[in-house]
Amino acid sequence: MSQLWHMYRLSLLDQESDKKNEELRKLKDPAEIEKECKDLEKEIARLDEESKKLVLATKKLELESESIKTHWKSIEKKLYSGKTSNTKELSGWQTEVATLKKKQNKIEEEIIVLMEQAESIDESLKNSQKQLELKKAEAESAWKSYKETKVNLEKEIAELKDKRTKLVPPIDQADLKKYEMLRKLKDDGVAIVKIEENVCGGCYMSVPDMMIKKVQTLHLVTCNNCSRILYWEDEK
Ligand SMILES: [Zn+2]
Repeated sequence: MSQLWHMYRLSLLDQESDKKNEELRKLKDPAEIEKECKDLEKEIARLDEESKKLVLATKKLELESESIKTHWKSIEKKLYSGKTSNTKELSGWQTEVATLKKKQNKIEEEIIVLMEQAESIDESLKNSQKQLELKKAEAESAWKSYKETKVNLEKEIAELKDKRTKLVPPIDQADLKKYEMLRKLKDDGVAIVKIEENVCGGCYMSVPDMMIKKVQTLHLVTCNNCSRILYWEDEK
């Protein structure tokens, strides 16, 4: 088997390896899903904090309401005890009871508003928690498949590298350098191509018969148009 045969096989391996490396590079890691999980966790913490604040504020108002109620009840007790018949004093107490009852009603209304707010926040909290659970499961399965694909690709690339090492020794050092240089120059990384139906497999320009004969006699010939090394398939 000639050098050209080896170089052509080398080129096929290199192309396959390029393809795998590209796949590896394009492999999307599930970081985006993890970011969504983190955002949800932040939102849950914020809602939780808000819910706690509302519970505290409600408790505070309930205590206030309770204390006002005790206050007006004690005045009412005095009012109906019959201990005094001083009209001015009695009327003063009545006014005070009315004021306190009004104040208490207002507080009760505020409590209802706070409780409604708390209910809506608890609902959002439950929704976010459910969403987080789903996202976490999604992230886990995405990571698993990402890791599996990555490991497989890396294994395949390593195998190709191993095969390549075995193909290199019979190739002349200068020719190998030429191949490597051309490979870097070409966008598709293809440095050696077959001649098929008298045209170059790289640029599809026709190759003169004389050149084909030279390739068939195992000379290193490059395409006049694209400079790729030409290879003739008949070789076994
Ligand atoms: Zn060409």
